Amino acid sequence: MPELPDIVVYLEALDQRILGETLKRITLGSPFLLRTAEPPLATVHGQKVVTLRRLGKRICFGFESDLWLVLHLMIAGRLHWKDQPGKAIKQGAATKLPNKRNLATFEFGNGTLSLTEAGTQRRASLHLLKGADSLERLNPGGLEVLESDLPQFAARLQSANHTLKRALTDPRLFSGIGNAYSDEILWHAQLSPVALTQNLQPEEIERLFNSTRSMLTEWVELLRADAHGKFPEKVTAFRPKMAVHGKYQEPCPRCGSKVRRIRYAANETNYCPGCQTRGKLLADRALSRLLRADWPRSEEEMESRGIE
Ligand SMILES: [Zn+2]
Repeated sequence: MPELPDIVVYLEALDQRILGETLKRITLGSPFLLRTAEPPLATVHGQKVVTLRRLGKRICFGFESDLWLVLHLMIAGRLHWKDQPGKAIKQGAATKLPNKRNLATFEFGNGTLSLTEAGTQRRASLHLLKGADSLERLNPGGLEVLESDLPQFAARLQSANHTLKRALTDPRLFSGIGNAYSDEILWHAQLSPVALTQNLQPEEIERLFNSTRSMLTEWVELLRADAHGKFPEKVTAFRPKMAVHGKYQEPCPRCGSKVRRIRYAANETNYCPGCQTRGKLLADRALSRLLRADWPRSEEEMESRGIE
């Protein structure tokens, strides 16, 4: 799932291309994408993009007349940009987009933005809202760690007694962090994914705070450098430069121990036993008993809980 660093880099690319541009038309390729009926989608046709912002893991396109298109890519949604306005889309061909994965096409005077979703599950969502206030309805309320200080972070972290993995990936607690970057943050902080938030020592909380900030900042810079001014077309949760996420059985870049995993639902958590759990392997079965109520069942479920 695209997380804060991916979304920030998408937003920068969108800023350079569509800020101040007029949206000529949106064509939907799937009837499931749009989750709102009012105002009608055609209301944004002919409106200029006046601002772009992030809300958790959502991308918000702000238009004139205080209209907001809010896009959640979920796991498999991706954006693409073509410099020429689309030619394949003719008037009246609303449901016949050329590519089956294509969920929506946004035509601007200077190019076309398209949304695709891999796989067969249609989870990505689009909302059209009137008024910046109504954005709050879609705000899961997670703390923006890059805009917070240590006491705010500590208070949020310890507001309930969760495992660190669960706390970091809960969009109601922290904004923009998902399965991939939480693995990297916990590895960087040398903390176990199953440590309980209310058992942490003050110095461990400070380490986690610093690691969260530095991992998010470093990854924004890395992804920005990777995109190289082009539209980010290779958005993935698995990056070669990651230390543990997606690196099961590979050596930890810090201590050389083999990276291990805990599997749950469709996700897995990767960690280094050498750096994070004092050499202890965390067994799937024991954990599932211990943490059934607390362990995130899937990132998707966490993301959509209580807000749709
Ligand atoms: Zn290690």
